Amino acid sequence: MKENPKIIFHLSDSETNQQYQMKGTIKKKDFEGFLETEQPLTDLSYTIMIFKAKDEVFVNGTVECRLEDLCYRCLKPTAQNIKGDIEAAYIYGNENDTILKEKELESLENVIYYVGSEIDLFDRVIEALITAIPQRFLCDENCKGLCPFCGEDLNENPNHTCEPAESFEGENVFSKLSALKDNLNDDQDNNQNG
Ligand SMILES: [Zn+2]
Ligand SMILES: [Zn+2]
Repeated sequence: MKENPKIIFHLSDSETNQQYQMKGTIKKKDFEGFLETEQPLTDLSYTIMIFKAKDEVFVNGTVECRLEDLCYRCLKPTAQNIKGDIEAAYIYGNENDTILKEKELESLENVIYYVGSEIDLFDRVIEALITAIPQRFLCDENCKGLCPFCGEDLNENPNHTCEPAESFEGENVFSKLSALKDNLNDDQDNNQNG
């Protein structure tokens, strides 16, 4: 399996109570595997601020890239700028004192334990991107979508109408169906199932 690139912050080269900045980009081919249906149009850029305290390292920052996916309503390829936030605290500790510290810190959201003299921030960058991707891409908030009967694009043909009722040519059948439906609805109301 392909190795992920690393974004290493060296704790041994850094001073306590100092703030550091890391800036860079991750190439498309190195993060597209983390995406579902979206395609990256740009590399993923990040800016991370790192504050080193005695036993903790506080990390925050932003990530940014442009992704393309199909519009949820009309299926047209749609690009969006995605901006995500990084926020995490790295706590120095070995496995034995992890449980104790976890209790103390359960109010903090993104707490990661580390040992050794470096931390790899790659996962934080990917995490920030993934959580910032909207569930649905829309080409436009007012996208009218496709005709549910024939698939015609209703943005291009706003006056398009399909009349599926046309297939019920005998009016009697249609009115009988509609009467039947009314009865069913009445029954449902009486039983309080509706
Ligand atoms: Zn659309
Ligand atoms: Zn249609």
